[in-house]
Formats: sequence, C-alpha cells, structure tokens
Amino acid sequence: MGIDLHTHSTASDGTDSPTSLVEAAAAAGLTTVAITDHDTFAGWSDAADAAQRVGVRLVRGVEISCESEGHSVHLLGYLVDPFDAALAEELARARESRATRLARMVELLAADGIPVTYAQVLAHVPPGATPGRPHIADALVTAGAVAHRDEAFARWLFDDSPYYVRHYAPEPQRAVELVQGAGGIGVLAHPFATRRGWTMPDALVERLAGLGLAGIEADHPDHDAAARARARRLAEGLGLLVTGSSDYHGLGKTVRLGQESTDPAVLAEIEARASGVAVVPA
Ligand code: AMP
Ligand code: ZN
Ligand code: FE
Ligand code: FE
Repeated sequence: MGIDLHTHSTASDGTDSPTSLVEAAAAAGLTTVAITDHDTFAGWSDAADAAQRVGVRLVRGVEISCESEGHSVHLLGYLVDPFDAALAEELARARESRATRLARMVELLAADGIPVTYAQVLAHVPPGATPGRPHIADALVTAGAVAHRDEAFARWLFDDSPYYVRHYAPEPQRAVELVQGAGGIGVLAHPFATRRGWTMPDALVERLAGLGLAGIEADHPDHDAAARARARRLAEGLGLLVTGSSDYHGLGKTVRLGQESTDPAVLAEIEARASGVAVVPA
C-alpha cells in the first residue's frame, strides 16, 4: 500500500524540493505521502501540484517543534487549516526565533575555532525555508570541516552540546490544542527515540491524549523494538492511532521513502476526523 506520513523537503531541512519529494514518492511506489516540514506550510503548494501530476495522494502536514521542561518534543499536525491565525502565528514566531538562534550557535562555534560564518550558513538555507541545525551542518560540510551532516551532529550540533542554543517553541500541550483548533490531527513524532538522549515520560503522552492528541508514531527509524512496543502499548491503553513513517530528509539522512509505513485504516481515520484541509487526490 505504501503510505509514508512524515517527510521533509527544502521548505525546511530536507534536500529534495517539494516537487522532487513527491516525484520520489511516486518513483518509490507509494500511494500516499505526507509533507511535514518543520514549522512551515511553505512546501504545500508545489507538493500538491506535483502530487496531482504524478498520481500520488498528498497529506498536507507540519512537524511542530515543541519544548517540554527543556526537552525537545515534535508534534505532527496533519490536514490543518493553514489560514488558522493562532497556529500560523505560533509557527511564524518559531521560525523567526530559529534564525536568531542559528546566528548565536555560529558565534559559539566560531569562537571555539570551528570554521563557519553565519553568511555561509545562510547560503545553505533555501529561500523561504525554516532554518535549522542541518543547515549549519551543510555549511561545515562545504567548509571541509566534516564529511556529512551526521558527523557535524555527532561532533558539535547534538542536543546537549555546549554549542546548542534553544529557539522559541510552544509546549506540546499548546501545540496539540493549536492543531485541534485548526481542524487538524495531532500525532506525536518519534516520542521514544533514545538516540536523542531523553525520551518522553508516559505521563506526558497521557496528558496530551486528554487534550485531544489523536495518535503516536510507533514505527520510526529512530525507534528500536522496545520503543515501538511501548508506543503500541500506550496507544492501546489511551485509544490513540498508531502510525509508521520514514522521516525522510533526502540526502540529509540515510532512510528511504516508505521505509516505514502506516496502515490504510489509520490514514482513513485521520482523513475522517480532520476538517482543516482535505487530502490532495492522486
Ligand atoms: P533543529 O530543528 O534545528 O533543532 O534540528 C533538528 C533536526 O536536525 C532534526 O529534525 C533532524 O532533521 C536533524 N538531525 C538531528 N540529528 C541528526 C543527525 N545525527 N544527522 C543528521 N541530521 C540530524
Ligand atoms: Zn529535520
Ligand atoms: Fe522530528
Ligand atoms: Fe521530522
């Protein structure tokens, strides 16, 4: 069936344009792909045009960066109304804060002799894209300081690094309410990815479920078997939908489109419950 509900394009930190992303989904044999760039809807329009041209269904979504007690939490918002003012304003605020934050990270890196300037980083942020740490990584690759994004993250850009600077991000409780208010479906992204150091406590998932969280991403490349089982167990107890997705970033990561997938019945439920925008038909 091939349904992949979590991917990134050059509208944030992926390396495929929204058009190429959808073309790649068709080439991979997917029936349905979601575009879920960080904190932006900027890729939706081009992706929708491509979807109709190549015959893939497109779920328009967004991955909202949140912060809970100092820890990063990601919420996928599917089929939200992009004109909902409260959600759009929150995303704009996060994007602006991300730019300042990258400049500060560059200052810290440069002060320690790591060869990168803010201008070099900006040269790697595609026009209109949400800026993120992967764009610093790309500048470091171009400068010859590291071989690829992963190495830049492993050496300098990881979450607890001395060079890490926070950006504005809403609490996940607020993000769940914003997604609901925009007629969308909220699904927790990779909540138990231990690679990132910290994992979300069950109690937070329970609280979010009480506020209208609809689902949880169980099958994700950064989830091991224990994390997947934990997500499924929680979902069953709380009545949450279970999704599976690749979190494809083009050349920025080694995962393939469709490497993980979502059950068609779950997608049908997401579609049935959402009122923000419709799935773009193939
Ligand atoms: P930011 O949004 O600026 O906090 O950066 C987070 C993004 O960095 C994630 O969404 C991933 O796309 C990317 N990322 C995190 N760890 C790595 C890694 N080890 N290698 C490549 N990309 C990574
Ligand atoms: Zn990313
Ligand atoms: Fe994420
Ligand atoms: Fe993602």
